[in-house]
Amino acid sequence: MRSLNLGILAHVDAGKTSLTERILFEAGVIEKPGSVDAGNTLTDNMALERERGITIKAAVVSFEVAGRIVNLIDTPGHPDFIAEVERVLGLLDAAILVVSAVEGVQAQTRVLVRALKRLGVPFLLFINKVDRLGARYDELLETLGAELVVTPVAMCEVRGAGSRLATADPCDLTAEPHRTRLIEQLADHDETLLADYLLSPRRIDSARLMQSLAGQVAQGRLHPAFAGAALSGIGVAALLPALADLLPARDADLDAPLSARIFKIERGWGGEKLAYLQLSSGRIALRQTLDLPAGPARVTGIHVFRKGRMEQTGMAEAGEIARLSGLATARSGDRIGLLSKDMKGAPGSDRTVDATFAPPTLETRVVACHPGDHTKLWLALDQLAEQDPLINLRRDEESRDLFLSLYGEVQKEVIAAMLQSEFSIAARFEESTVLYAERLIGIGEGLEIIFRAPNPYLATVGLRAEPRPPGSGNSFALEVDLGQMPAAFYKAVEETVFDVLKQGIFGWQIIDCHIALTAAAQTSPQTTAADFRGLTPLVLAEALEKAQTIVCEPVDRFTIDAPAKSLSPLLTLLGKNAAAVEQTEVTEARARLEGTMPAAKVQAIQQQLLGLTSGSGTMESAFEHYAPLASQISPPIRARTGPNPFDRKEYFQRQR
Ligand code: GDP
Repeated sequence: MRSLNLGILAHVDAGKTSLTERILFEAGVIEKPGSVDAGNTLTDNMALERERGITIKAAVVSFEVAGRIVNLIDTPGHPDFIAEVERVLGLLDAAILVVSAVEGVQAQTRVLVRALKRLGVPFLLFINKVDRLGARYDELLETLGAELVVTPVAMCEVRGAGSRLATADPCDLTAEPHRTRLIEQLADHDETLLADYLLSPRRIDSARLMQSLAGQVAQGRLHPAFAGAALSGIGVAALLPALADLLPARDADLDAPLSARIFKIERGWGGEKLAYLQLSSGRIALRQTLDLPAGPARVTGIHVFRKGRMEQTGMAEAGEIARLSGLATARSGDRIGLLSKDMKGAPGSDRTVDATFAPPTLETRVVACHPGDHTKLWLALDQLAEQDPLINLRRDEESRDLFLSLYGEVQKEVIAAMLQSEFSIAARFEESTVLYAERLIGIGEGLEIIFRAPNPYLATVGLRAEPRPPGSGNSFALEVDLGQMPAAFYKAVEETVFDVLKQGIFGWQIIDCHIALTAAAQTSPQTTAADFRGLTPLVLAEALEKAQTIVCEPVDRFTIDAPAKSLSPLLTLLGKNAAAVEQTEVTEARARLEGTMPAAKVQAIQQQLLGLTSGSGTMESAFEHYAPLASQISPPIRARTGPNPFDRKEYFQRQR
C-alpha cells in the first residue's frame, strides 16, 4: 500500500491540535474529537503539554484514507521547539500548514514555510477559524501569496466568514469561474495543458486538471488552500480526500534493502530505551540485529502504528512507523542502512549535518537546588540530551559546571518540570547568555604525516577547511581513495571533525563550513581508530587557524503588535537595542512592526514592551540568521571544555 508521512504545522494557537483531532474523527480513528481546551486530545502525550496546552514532543497516529496509509506525525507548535519541528519535517512527504483566518501570517508561519521550502516538502494550506470575528479567506489568500511567496489555489468557497454560521464548501473546479482560474494557474508551469487549452478548451476534463494540480503540488509550485473551522469541523471533510488525491505518496518497497531513520527516543517505564523509526524501505523483524552508527543492537520488541493504534508485532514494514525496544545504542537522528551505503558511495559524496535545524541561540548554567543532587542532575540531563540531540549539554571538567543550550526561555520551564516529574530533581537555571558562532574567512589546510615528527600518532591526516554560503550548515567529504583503510577510520575522522567544530578558535561553534579529508594513511596492524581521533583535532586546528574565523551573533526575526499610541517610545526602544525595523503598519488603534533584532536583546525588549504598552503589546520572534559582530576587535570568547587542539602543549598534556 502507498503511504504518506504527513505533518500538520502552525503558528501556536492557529488550531493545529483542533484540526488534528477533527481529521482523526473524520477518518474514523476516534469517536469524538477531544478538546484542546478540556485537555484530552490524543496527540498531546505529555502531562506538561496538557497543562500548558502546548505540543512539545512528536507523537504518531496512522490511519487510512482512500486506500492509502497516512502516518500523521505530530509536530511541536511552540517556537522554542523549532528544532524538533525541523527534525520531524525531514521525515515528511507532505504537510498541512494551518493559518488562522483572523491573524493571517504570523512569525512562526514564515519560519515554517521557509523550512518546508528548503527541505522540498510540498504542502496544503488550511485557513482555520473562518467562524471567528474578523475572518477572511479570499483576501487572505492574496496576502499569503505575497507575504510567503507561495501560490495558493482556492479550493473552497467560504460564505458568512466571521460569523458562527460560516460555511466552507469545496469549489467545483470544473465550473466557472474556478475552472479558468485554475487552468491559468496550472498553465504557468504546464505547457501542454496551456497548448491544449488554447486549441480546444472544452477537452480538458477534471481528471486532467487534478493530475496537473497534483503534479505541481508535489513539485512545491502550488498550494491548494482549504478553509474551515477545525473546532466545529466545518470544511474538514473536504480536506480528507485531498490527502489521497493531491499529495505525493510513496511506494513502500518491502523487498529493497532496509533504510530507516530514528526520529525520537523515549524511555519506557523501566527506563529502557524506545526508538521511534520511520521505515522507507525493507523490513525489520524481531530479534534482528541492526547496524546503528554507535554500534550494533538487537531488536527485542516491535510496535507499529496502524489504524489509529499502536500494535505489537513481529515485523515492521516499509511505509510504517515503528517503535522498537532493545536498541541501547540508538540516538535520535540515527540512520539505519544508509550510512554504510554513503561510505561506499565514492569520494566526494557529501554529508551535510544540521544544515536545516535552527540552532539554539542561548545557553544557561543549570544548578541542582540541593548540592547533593549534582551527579543525579548530570545523569538526568544527559539522558534528556540523548533523547533530543538538539538539547546540547556541556560539562566543564574542572568546575563540573553543567551548561545547557536553549531555544528560548520557555524551554527552561519545560526542562525544569521534566527534571522534577521524571527524576525528582529540583533544578535552577541561571540567566541565559547568548551562543555566538564562528564563520570561516578564508580557506586553510592542515597536514600531519605518519612517522614524521612532531606527529606522535600512527596516522596521516590532511584536511582542508573552506567557508560555505551562510545558512548552509557544515559538511564533510572524502577526497581520498576509499578502501585503503577500514571504514571505521574514515568514520573516526568524520566524527572527530564534527566534534572539533563545536569549539572554534574563540570557543564558539563553527558554522557554514566544509571540511574535506585530503590525505589519510595508516600502518597495519598497529594503527587504531584512536590514532585518527587523536590526530584529527590538531590537523583541523591548523587548517582553521589558517582560514581564520569571525565571531557572529544570532539574529531573530520579530513581529510586534502594540497599541498605536506606543509607537514612538517603541521605536526608540528598538533603536536602542540594535533592532532593524523593516515594515511598519499602523491603523488607528494598533501598530504592527516587523524586522530583525539580535537574539541577545529579545528578552530585554520583550520585558520592556510589556511596561511600555501596559501589557497589551505582544512580540513573537524566531531565529533567522547569524550576522558577523560589528566589531571584531575583542570578540567574546567562550571557556573551552576538554583538550585544546589550538594549543599543542596543553593538548598533549591533557591527552596523556
Ligand atoms: P494549536 O496551538 O495550533 O494546536 O491550536 P489549538 O488547536 O490548540 O487551538 C487554539 C485555540 O483556538 C483553542 O482555544 C481552540 O479552541 C481555538 N480554535 C481552534 N480552531 C478554531 C476554530 O476553527 N474556530 C474558533 N473559533 N476557535 C478555534
